Amino acid sequence: MNRALSLVDGKAWDATEFGSKDESWQERRRRQLACLGCGGRAMFKAGLRRAAFFAARHRQDCPLSTKAWSVFRYLQ
Ligand SMILES: [Zn+2]
Repeated sequence: MNRALSLVDGKAWDATEFGSKDESWQERRRRQLACLGCGGRAMFKAGLRRAAFFAARHRQDCPLSTKAWSVFRYLQ
């Protein structure tokens, strides 16, 4: 997912924006992230070969989880 809530500053961050901050800034926040849909614990992921993104342990009823989205698409 592209956005996650930082519990440190109570703000939703875009993954690209989050990844552009300096290391100490990221370090303080990367273990304090939550999914905007369900509040599940989220992590920041950045790689050299792919764009930065957030991964989360979603709750079953989370509207942002991949599973929920595929069901949504199926119903349309
Ligand atoms: Zn979620």
